[in-house]
Order: sequence, then C-alpha cells, then structure tokens
Amino acid sequence: MKLVDSHAHLDMAKFDADREAVIERARAAGLVAIITIGVDRASSRRAVELATEYEMVYAAVGVHPHDAKTLDSDTLAELRDLARQPQVVAVGEIGLDYYRDLSPRDVQRRAFQAQLAWAAKLGKPVIIHDREAHADVMAQLSQWAAPLADSPLAGRLGVLHTFSGDLEMAERAIELGFYLSISGPVTYRKAGRLVEIVKALPLDRLLVETDCPFLTPEPHRGQRNEPAYVRFVTERIAALRGMAFGELAAATTANAQRLFQLEAPDGRLAA
Ligand SMILES: [Zn+2]
Repeated sequence: MKLVDSHAHLDMAKFDADREAVIERARAAGLVAIITIGVDRASSRRAVELATEYEMVYAAVGVHPHDAKTLDSDTLAELRDLARQPQVVAVGEIGLDYYRDLSPRDVQRRAFQAQLAWAAKLGKPVIIHDREAHADVMAQLSQWAAPLADSPLAGRLGVLHTFSGDLEMAERAIELGFYLSISGPVTYRKAGRLVEIVKALPLDRLLVETDCPFLTPEPHRGQRNEPAYVRFVTERIAALRGMAFGELAAATTANAQRLFQLEAPDGRLAA
C-alpha cells in the first residue's frame, strides 16, 4: 500500500520539535511522497530545503493569497530560482481567499495572475487555494487554461486543493484539466455536499491530502494534523465510494505521480 500526501506544510513551526519523527511516521504509515507547500518567500525556501533533506519530500513554491501583498519582483525572482530545482514539482499555493481577505482582492487577483503566467512558462502544474472565491478562481483558471491546450501541461494543469466548490464546479475544473484534492473535512460528521462530490468524482482525477498542521481528520480532530493521517482521509473516501482502501490508495497515488511527475526527472520516488 502506497499513499501520497499531496498538500502539507512541513516547514511550519508546529513541526519544529519533531519534524524528523513526523516524516518517519509518514513512511511507516505507507507514504511514498509528501508535497510540502510554500505560502510565501521564506516558507518556499524552507520547502525546497526540506525536499533536499528528505528523499520522500517534494516541494511547491509560491505566494498564498493571504500574503499576496508581499509578492514583489524580488520575491518572484527568488521563487523562479527556487523552482528550477528538480524537487520542486509545482507552483503553489496560489489563488484567492475572499473569506479572510488578508490581502486586498485586487492585489490577490494580480498575484494569482502573475504566478499562473509564471507556472505556464515554467511548465509546472499549479496548486490552487480557493476560499469563497469560486467564480473568480474559475474565471482566471479558464482563461489561463485555454492557450495551454496543446502544451505539455494539458490535462495536468494542477489541483484545486481542499476542494470546496459544488459538483458543477468540480466537473468544469476536471474538464479544464485539473485534479481535485480532498482533505480532513470529508471525515467530519457534517461533511455536507463533499460526500456527494467524492462519490461522483472520476477516480483518475482525485488526490488526497492533509493540509497539515490544519484540518485534522477524525479520529484525531482537535490535535495537530500530520502526513500519516492522510490514511484516514483515504479510508473515508474509500468507504463512501464503496471501494477497497488499497484500491483507492493506489489510484490516488498514481494520480499524484502523474500530475506532479514524481518519477521524473530524478527518479527519487521510492517505488
Ligand atoms: Zn495549504
């Protein structure tokens, strides 16, 4: 059995005391890869360091919509440099967050657009954060996707992480060439429409993630989240779909490998 945690924040201070043990527990739980995600300049740098230090860790670099106001040309230049490392498999997390509005919305939209353009040039998929900004996110993604239809990124444009839209949006995103990633909330008693969505999604477009240290799944809700707990998310989705856990684990792992090309270019994925 192999699992991939497609979205973790291993750089965060909550892991400072026991990061090594956290990664070891992930390995023991069957994980073969963890994508650790940058949210600003410093955490992107740290994500790449962690991916260099630990064989099973890969990195994504980018500026989160919360920090959009920090995306100046200096930062973008450093992100560009970082992204040349082979262990950087995506640009992210980027997107729009109209729930917390920690950066002005027009600033968020500009930062999102700039990083989408850069990802296309770089030829790497994007990891999208969308909170209460579905219409604007989809508008930008549709526009971005159109000229990429014949590029090597076609069909693997990126992932909408901790997907929170409706089924119609899920279908539209898949049509554009995106994957959808599901995290801890699917295990909650009030999972709402997420239940219908995970049942309906095509198996070859589904990823699992923890978003740790946040969004801890049951039965550990209330504690710190960590990559090993991606197992509980996977188990819940398998149960909802009436599938064997191993079958869903294999499918989501193959999807992550395909989207992020985890076996290329340096073949580090422990097969
Ligand atoms: Zn995140």
